[in-house]
Amino acid sequence: MGWSFKIAEVSGINIRIHITFFLILLVGALQWGGASNPQGALFGILLMLLLFLCVTLHELGHSLVAQRFGIPVREIILLPLGGVALLTRTPDKPRDEFLIALAGPLVNVVIFLVLLLLGPVAGVGLLDERLTFQGLQTPSVETLRLWLLGANLMLVLFNLIPAFPLDGGRMLRALLAMRLGYPRATRLASTIGQGFAVLFGFIGVFTNNWSLLLIAVFVFFGAGQENADATAKHVLRTLRVGDAYNKHALTLAIGDRVSRVVDYILTSYQPDFAVMQGSRPLGIVTRATVLRALQAGLEDGFITGIMEREFVKVDATATLDDVRRTLAEQGGRVAAVYDGQTYLGLVSLEDISEAFLVASFLQRGGPGATPSETDRTGEVVV
Ligand SMILES: [Zn+2]
Repeated sequence: MGWSFKIAEVSGINIRIHITFFLILLVGALQWGGASNPQGALFGILLMLLLFLCVTLHELGHSLVAQRFGIPVREIILLPLGGVALLTRTPDKPRDEFLIALAGPLVNVVIFLVLLLLGPVAGVGLLDERLTFQGLQTPSVETLRLWLLGANLMLVLFNLIPAFPLDGGRMLRALLAMRLGYPRATRLASTIGQGFAVLFGFIGVFTNNWSLLLIAVFVFFGAGQENADATAKHVLRTLRVGDAYNKHALTLAIGDRVSRVVDYILTSYQPDFAVMQGSRPLGIVTRATVLRALQAGLEDGFITGIMEREFVKVDATATLDDVRRTLAEQGGRVAAVYDGQTYLGLVSLEDISEAFLVASFLQRGGPGATPSETDRTGEVVV
């Protein structure tokens, strides 16, 4: 994500902060002090930082469990409204998805219990308006603890609302998927999620709670996107890469110079070329590589000098969803397709989108939404 920078790395996962995150620190400073009360302002900033530490730990809960199930986590991003853990794919088994979704709120339950053990909570104090006012408005360690107790409780309760794509909604989808399969479960969970979003929206407007209104928008569009993704995945899972690669592709030989591939690119629509030694590909040349070579004045150089020798290999029996996932995990755009040891041709993300469009026309009589590359579990702070 643009406009964000890395602040830490845990278990190989980059934790990044979006630049707008600093707005929330400003809000904290203004709420607790402002210019006339620098001590209060500092307290507000500290409170916000600790609150986001809880959100980060929540995201790490999702991420570490996902890693345990063999799902690589791309990064965790902290935004003013909460955090997002970017997983490279959705879990295959509903049970895994259920546990990944559960792990986040469970972290906040643990934090809540630890904070609870650190000292007594004046039960009356939290309920009685007057005492609450006295106890929770003066900057102190105790105020910090009580606020964080409340915030972690809210994080648990809010995220467990079965409003897909919030954690509770993901758990609901997983439970439904055990009986109905993913496409139907996702459709149902998305509809329920959008119902909740409308409800959040109404409550937000009538109580002047703008962050709830923002969350409503996030949930509404998130649910729609997830539904489109699940449908796309279902289509992609029914297609094999052996039926989607370019069977009539032009190829290059190891003796060819860059000028030859320039000719090919100008006279055909093909963007990627395999450099062959006999029937075996030695490397791949993409349009981007060629343009870089031309910029560097390498038009007369050998193609072997600019080709990428490391490339993604997939079997012809793999589904397009498998290939899309492998490319996302390895950060590639093109894969070489093999039938056992025999090289067949190249397949790119563009070929996959093309095959997907054709297949969704055939299956549903209309174009589908293009699937997004990653899956995310979203978090919100209220
Ligand atoms: Zn979560």
